[in-house]
Amino acid sequence: MEGWTLETKAIVTKKILTEASGYLDVGFTHSLNPYSGCRFSCLYCYVRELPIQRFKDRPWGEWVEMKSNAAESYRKEIKKLRQKGKPVHIYMSSATDPYQPIERKARITREILEAMLEEPPDSIQIQTRGPLITRDIDLFVQLKEKCDVLVSMTVETDREDIKRIFAPLAPGVKLRIKALKAVHDAGIRTQAAVSPVLPFTPEFPEKLEPVADRVWIDTLTIGDGAMGRRSKRLGMPKLFEAHELSDWYLDDLHARVERYFHKTFPRDRVFVSKTGAFPVK
Ligand code: SF4
Repeated sequence: MEGWTLETKAIVTKKILTEASGYLDVGFTHSLNPYSGCRFSCLYCYVRELPIQRFKDRPWGEWVEMKSNAAESYRKEIKKLRQKGKPVHIYMSSATDPYQPIERKARITREILEAMLEEPPDSIQIQTRGPLITRDIDLFVQLKEKCDVLVSMTVETDREDIKRIFAPLAPGVKLRIKALKAVHDAGIRTQAAVSPVLPFTPEFPEKLEPVADRVWIDTLTIGDGAMGRRSKRLGMPKLFEAHELSDWYLDDLHARVERYFHKTFPRDRVFVSKTGAFPVK
């Protein structure tokens, strides 16, 4: 099965802050990826369709490159940006998960956060599926005194059986919600990223409401950066069909889910797709 073996190597990156474009061009100035590759290996991951994976000889999920000089690079790059008077709104991460299993030992994400305490950006949104993020709550608590911090945990569904079909190597959803609660309880702003929406139970919004300051909804059809074409190439419509879930593969799913979440969340806490993905104060 894909994802059982893993090849890791340390690399030296030329640049750790990448200018934001495409989906992130809504107020973020840079994306920051501490790693290349991602062990979580979600079947719907659009990075599988990007050049970084298409030109690799190993399948997605079976290789991870650790950017060993990431913190040092960050320090240099932000100093230069500040000298030019530029704003720095960071999205970490767009093409990897900063809290995938290797981070427990490699601590590259943690080192970057430590560098941010010395040279803070204007804002940072941390996007992850990894409960390991709770290890760094001490740093977020300090960082939020210096810049805007939002921790966004992907919770695509509250059904473990569904998670196992679409993201078998990603952490369980209960663990993710528990981690989001720990971050929220520490006074850090949190987001539940229901992205991509997968079939969920009627109680899903009630499970997220106490732990998420905001909910951000996106789907495989409008949120893959290619209006559903990437998801199609990844075989998502067929996978839904094979599990008799096609009722959930709809062009207007985002609007239906938004309406459903409004029954539990006030309107100003629910956001949809690209227009709702801006840096949050
Ligand atoms: S956690 Fe994110 S980057 Fe990693 S495989 Fe899943 S969708 Fe892709």
